[in-house]
Parts: sequence; structure tokens; C-alpha cells
Amino acid sequence: MEHSVSDFSMDFFRLDNKVAIVTGGNTGLGQGFAVALAKAGADIFIVTHGDDGEETRKLVEKEGRKVEFFRGDLSQKEDIKNLIDKCIKVFGKIDILVNNAGMIKRAPILEYKDEDWKQVISVNLDAVYYLSQKVAIIMANQGSGKIINIASMLSFQGGKFVPAYTAAKHGVAGITKAFANELACKNIQVNAIAPGYIVTNNTAKIRSDENRSEEILERIPAARWGYPIDVMGTVVFLSGRASDYVNGHILAVDGGWLVR
Ligand code: NAP
Repeated sequence: MEHSVSDFSMDFFRLDNKVAIVTGGNTGLGQGFAVALAKAGADIFIVTHGDDGEETRKLVEKEGRKVEFFRGDLSQKEDIKNLIDKCIKVFGKIDILVNNAGMIKRAPILEYKDEDWKQVISVNLDAVYYLSQKVAIIMANQGSGKIINIASMLSFQGGKFVPAYTAAKHGVAGITKAFANELACKNIQVNAIAPGYIVTNNTAKIRSDENRSEEILERIPAARWGYPIDVMGTVVFLSGRASDYVNGHILAVDGGWLVR
């Protein structure tokens, strides 16, 4: 391992010949993460749910990187096992896991449906745990790895009308720290990115609600919504040598929302 300051180089942000799994990499933030990692040199394994991911395929291939897809439902443990088997079969290893896929169900808490609670917890929390645990076993055998979970402002705050999402994202922050504690000694760094309010399908409903949208915008010090491009640099940092001594951190990329 390098120790002299003169050993530092911009290669600490390169990911050449790395293999990255990005769940939900067909759209929104996940597409941004997939393209950012490809631009840094990684081959990409994308997990999609409904969409075929063609747009992301073109964007990754444009960078001269390989891209492979698995279509499945992360709430199904069988699909989690199968996607890992496929990634290993195709690429032979897993260096980076970005637990990005997620969903949201909005309703007032007194009317919140049991099935919505179960579904959101299953995709946004259970799947992160199961996939991370199984991939971490592979990374531990390899002797290195990076796991990046996608948290939220609702990993820190209560939110309104999204109790299951809030519970899941608080849980994501918790397991980020729990995994980091046990895996740092195995040279696996586990961290999270907490995006602020970003323009994607996930936020289409609140952006179309004029009052709610204005309420949110007024509270953002940067005075604008974020875009996937605003978050792409952080995933490269947390995937490369530059972050090898960063463990269990939840990095907010929020235009200042949390410090308000
Ligand atoms: P998005 O555009 O709605 O994308 C969500 C992704 O998750 C899609 O690729 C979707 O696949 C996938 N997905 C959903 N359910 C799935 C399942 N059961 N199995 C497999 N994949 C599934 O949302 P986004 O805004 O990019 O969100 C990405 C992540 O960032 C989520 O974890 C979200 O909670 C988090 N986040 C977003 C914001 C924001 O402001 N946008 C802020 C904080 C955190 P299909 O499209 O194929 O269904």
C-alpha cells in the first residue's frame, strides 16, 4: 500500500477493469451511477425490473465498457441469488455493488396499507441487506470490495406520507454502519449516498404538486432541484482507491437541505 503523498494520483478515481453491479440502473439515479462508473473504466451489470435498459446499454457501450443485464424482482430472494450467479458467470467477480433500486408509496399514515408497507420494506431494505450480505461473502474471498447504498434525506428525517420509505431508508443508514464495522478489516468499504431532492420518476408526483414542490424548493439552500448528474461524482469517489479509508459514512448530496 502507498503511504507517501507523492503516490497520490488521479488514478485513485479510476475504476479500470472493475466490475460494478448497479440495481435499478435503467433509469434516474441508477442510470447516472452506471454511466459514471463506466466513464471511470468499470464494466457494468445492471439489474432492471420492468424496463429493458436499452438506453443505459447504449450509454455504457459508448464509453467502451461491457454491460450485462439481469431482469428480476429484488423482493424475491431467488432473483437475488440468480443475479449474483449471472454476474459471476459473465464477469468472474464483483468489485462494486451499488444498491440503488427503490420504490415509494405515498399515503397519509392513518390510511397506509399493510401491503404497501411490506412491499416498500422488502425492496428498499430487505433486498439491500440480502444482496449486500451475499456479495460481501464474494468480496471477502476476493480481499476487496466497495458497497454503496443509496440512502435519502429520509434516512435522517421523518418526511410526510411515506412511513415505509422513511423506515426503510433509516434502516439503510443503519445497515451501512453495521456492514462497515464488520467488513472494514476485510478491505471492504461500505458507505451510503443520501441524495436530496432529485429530478427522477421517483419524485414526479411531488414535483407535479405545486404546493409541495414550492415548499421543498424554498428549503433548498442551492435553490434548485438536483439532477442525477449532480450525484455521479460521489459514486466514483466511493468506488475507488480514493475512498479506501472511508467507512460507514452517509454522504449527503442535497444542495444543503440537511444543514438548513
Ligand atoms: P426511479 O427513477 O423510480 O428508479 C427506481 C429504480 O428501482 C428503477 O430502476 C426500478 O426499476 C427499480 N426497482 C423498483 N422496484 C424494483 C424491484 N422490485 N426489483 C428491482 N428493481 C426495482 O427512482 P430514482 O429517483 O432514480 O431512485 C433511485 C434510488 O435513489 C432509490 O433508492 C431512491 O429511494 C433513492 N433516492 C431518490 C431520490 C430522488 O429525489 N429521486 C432522493 C433520495 C433517494 P424499473 O424502472 O425497471 O421498474
